Amino acid sequence: MIRTHVLPCKLRQATCDALNLYSGRISSGIVSRHWRVLRHNGVWLSEKSLTKLSDMRWASRDVPMHAHSIDVAQQGFFKACKTTRALRKAGGPEAHFPWRTKKLRTTIWKNTAITYKAGTLELSTGAGRRKIRIALPQTLPTALHCVEVRLVFERTSGRYPWHVVLENGTPPRIALGTKTVSVDPGAMHPAVIGDAHSATVLTCRERRALQRGHAKNLQAFSTTLARKTQGSRTYRKLVQAKARCKAKYAMVMRDIAHKISHAIVVEAIHRQAQTIVYGDIRTIADGINKGKAHNQRTSQWHHGTVRAFVQYKAQAEGIAVVLQDEHYTSQTCPHCGHRHKPRGRVYTCGQCGFSGHRDVVGQINILSAHTFGVPGKMPAPTTVKYRIPHNVRVLRKCQGTGQTTKTVCSLDHRTMPQEAAGL
Ligand SMILES: [Zn+2]
Repeated sequence: MIRTHVLPCKLRQATCDALNLYSGRISSGIVSRHWRVLRHNGVWLSEKSLTKLSDMRWASRDVPMHAHSIDVAQQGFFKACKTTRALRKAGGPEAHFPWRTKKLRTTIWKNTAITYKAGTLELSTGAGRRKIRIALPQTLPTALHCVEVRLVFERTSGRYPWHVVLENGTPPRIALGTKTVSVDPGAMHPAVIGDAHSATVLTCRERRALQRGHAKNLQAFSTTLARKTQGSRTYRKLVQAKARCKAKYAMVMRDIAHKISHAIVVEAIHRQAQTIVYGDIRTIADGINKGKAHNQRTSQWHHGTVRAFVQYKAQAEGIAVVLQDEHYTSQTCPHCGHRHKPRGRVYTCGQCGFSGHRDVVGQINILSAHTFGVPGKMPAPTTVKYRIPHNVRVLRKCQGTGQTTKTVCSLDHRTMPQEAAGL
């Protein structure tokens, strides 16, 4: 399986800037040359000719990059053109060919520029130049094949971490069961996962609390910044502090997203699932304005990150993830099919008197929509359990208590607990 590991970069900021600046210039050179030739001569140059022109320009300069890293920077434009053509063919006339030039671009080392020596990756920067060394942590598997290494600029923190892409040699597992479970992602409770008989509500109040706290922090920064003179020492200090705050928040939210997605996949394994039907909420905020409180809640809801994490984690366990349109799944009564918009956390049907957890109604209706094509055809599960994603409470406990924050998840996915076997 291919996995990307984010490792800290020990290179100087100026060196990283210079490398990504070179990549940006090479990539932008191709874009501007392509459009210039088309404008003046009316010729759409082929990939070969355009690369040749670019090579002629860069061959005379002393670029501290491996030849294949230069190739990758050049190929970006042609890859984007290919995507545009495919999108236009599929009926997306608004797709445009790349035209924007960029100052910086992520520098990529292909496997031909990487050598592995006793726990260290050596990246080539061209013949006769000193290699860049990355010490790999001991937690990484030893039998590995490095696919590529990227020098990525993180906008929030202003730092350059390494993104090391490794093939760890482990084949994806085969799913233990053949069942289908459904997942209803939510803003309040991150997810409800279950089948026709029982549902598990994953609760994570920490996520909401952090989201609201972060919004308040940003507001405080904006208010204070507005009172300062732009460019003053205090102003600059505040801008730096705001960036640090945003970077930390991004890191914590990413960690929580990993814990939630892990909990979803573990629950699916316990339920002997082969397919996860996942509520498709990709367009939930498109063109909708429901006031600032609702808009803030929706914009802070990182549903895409959790979905992407669930997809790759489930794939490793041999479980397929299917997206299901979730229209009317939270409004339809699972008992009589009557539709109404619930208020609060409890769904109560005015027609048949059914009352149940709002998110569990969403979960069973997603399963119903997947099985029968419409929501409201399956009765709500009778057993509802609550679960906190593994280790999320550590976030709260360890503030200033001196306890160790690092606890490794020792839960073996494949061992089926006795109580879970009856689910
Ligand atoms: Zn009803």
